[in-house]
Parts: sequence; structure tokens; C-alpha cells
Amino acid sequence: MIGKIKSVSAAVLLVVFISTGCSVKEAVKTEITRPAVKNIILFIGDGMGTAQVYAAMSVSKNPLVIESFPYTGFSKTWSANNYVTDSGAGGTAIACGVKTKNGMIGTTPDSAAVTSITEIAHKNGLATGILSTSHITHATPASFVAHNSGRSNYEDIANDFLNGTVDVFIGGGEDYFRNREDNKDLTVNLKEMGYDVVYNLEDLKNSGSAKLAGLLAKKDLPKASEGRSGMLAEMTRKAIETLSRDEDGFFLMVEGSMIDWGGHARNFDYIVSEVIDMDEAVGVAREFAEKNGETLIVITADHETGGMYLSGGNISRKTATAGFNEKGDHTGIMVPIFSYGPGAEKFSGIHDNTFFMSQFLELLGVEK
Ligand code: MG
Ligand code: ZN
Repeated sequence: MIGKIKSVSAAVLLVVFISTGCSVKEAVKTEITRPAVKNIILFIGDGMGTAQVYAAMSVSKNPLVIESFPYTGFSKTWSANNYVTDSGAGGTAIACGVKTKNGMIGTTPDSAAVTSITEIAHKNGLATGILSTSHITHATPASFVAHNSGRSNYEDIANDFLNGTVDVFIGGGEDYFRNREDNKDLTVNLKEMGYDVVYNLEDLKNSGSAKLAGLLAKKDLPKASEGRSGMLAEMTRKAIETLSRDEDGFFLMVEGSMIDWGGHARNFDYIVSEVIDMDEAVGVAREFAEKNGETLIVITADHETGGMYLSGGNISRKTATAGFNEKGDHTGIMVPIFSYGPGAEKFSGIHDNTFFMSQFLELLGVEK
């Protein structure tokens, strides 16, 4: 008898017939193999609309890596209580697949905790990582780890890193871990949990630990234009090197946080330097993915910032001029998606920002 072929999410069922001598034995072997996507690297350019990307493409000396991605799409960014989202609700939609109110992190609008892709990946044996150029407890990275109805409760959010679901986290935010109102030093707990806690890029690069906490600034890292240039690429390289040692695969989120801050500042140079800097990190990821063959890279944004528009420019001289809305506020327009690797075609078209999480789970073949 051949067993009924059940479809088990993305698993593959292999039916093998073995014949021996004059009697024919039928054996059913069910071999569950991993689906084509073993690793996912998600880039979030905070506040990165199409104008921000095209501005960087227009002035960059070299073509952006982003521009070479084969699939493009759009994401709708509205939050549960506002047409225009903030980074808390935007991050939560991407990380947890749930629309929440502006200001909330990893919860429903009623403040109930919702599971993030990081937590599910961790539960299923994948290695996990979160990188940010802001402090690691800031809204976007926090959405992948923490559950808090207030995005500014940074010290509470730092506590949530002690749940151990993130193997590698690198960004700023040392103060929220060990210069706290409650006088606790969370780095003591992290070390007990097996993390190598490092405070500079050199120590980070030299660490051989599978669990890494890189707190590379008291609060936020510097701007790309003020000494940070290339650091996100190095952080990405280290995270991939560390996480890819896990045979079960990995999920990594990399945030270019300050594209948003450039938009709030209505500052063209700030924005393009941050987009170009994130693109360098995308290049590191793409280099790995090309060799690896089982890695999906998705680049998107949580929302657009500044209502940025390009009013003119010169292609051969690589210049562009931009305008912004009055206060450099977030806007409600759709944001771009760029994807590369196995499963990348799933991200073309127009999607809601809650789509990422369910699609990631399907491609990885893991369940909630
Ligand atoms: Mg952010
Ligand atoms: Zn913002």
C-alpha cells in the first residue's frame, strides 16, 4: 500500500518503491526536505519611498545594488488607526503580520502581544539577527523582538532582548541596557545567556561567538556622513558570517534607520548618503546570496518620510534637486519592494505590509 500523499506545508514527500527478490515490497519513505528558501535577509529602509531611492540612484557614483534586483513591488503602509503610519505600527505589520496603532510595538491595537517572524524563526531552529543604525531598542528593530504598547519605553524594550529569540543584534543603545533608571545591567544577563557583548566594531569582527550583542554606541550610531559610512555593511557581513553557521538557516533584518531622519530633516544629502550606505550592506548580502543560492533578499520600507519629490536634476552630472512637505512628516504613499533570490517573484505586485510575515513563513516552510 502506498500511503496517502499529504501535503505538509512546503515539505516534499518522496515515495520510494523498493523491490526485493520475487516479492515486491512497497515502502513509503517520507523525507521532509527544506524548501528552496533557507535564509531570509530583510532590509528596511526607514522612510524610504521611491523618491529617496531614485535620488540616491541619480547621484551615486556607482550604480546601486538595489537597482539590479529582478523583482519589484509596492507595499501599502496604513496603520490600524491612521492612514499615515509611524515606524512602530509599520515595523509591527512587517515583523508580526498585524496592523496596530501608531506608537505600538509587537502588539495588537488592544495591547496584546503578537508573535514576530524572529520569534517563530527562533522557535523553528533558525538563527536570527537584527541590525540597526539607530539604537537597537528603537521602533523598527524593537518590532522584531519586543512587545510594548509604547515605543518609547526603551528600557522595557531592552528587557525583551533577554527572551533570547535574537542570536545576533547589533546597533546602538548601550545606555538602555546598562545605564538604566532601575540600575540593572542587562549585559550581565546577556553574558549569562552566552552572548558575547561587544562595544566596538573591532571586537565585533573578532568575536567567534554564535550569540552576539553589539552595542556600538550609547544611543544611536553616528550618521553615515559623520563617520559611520560602511559600518552597516560590516555589521551585515559579520551577522551573515555568524548566522550562516546554523544548518537550519537564518532570518536577518537589517535597518537603514536614518533615511527617515534625513526625511524629517528635509535634507537631501542626509537622505542619499543613508540610502547609499544601506545599499552597500545590500551588496554584502547579495554577494552571499549569489554564492549560497538558498537565500532570499527583500528590501522595503515601513513608510515614506518627508513627502520627498524630485523637481529636477542632471543625469550626466549626477545631480538632483528635491522638495519636501512642510514639516518633513511621514506620508501615506505606497513604498517600494525589491527582491532577489528564491521566492523573490512572490513579492512583485501590490501587497499590504502585513503580507511579508505570512509570505516569509510560507517560503521558509515553518509554522507559527
Ligand atoms: Mg526605524
Ligand atoms: Zn520617522
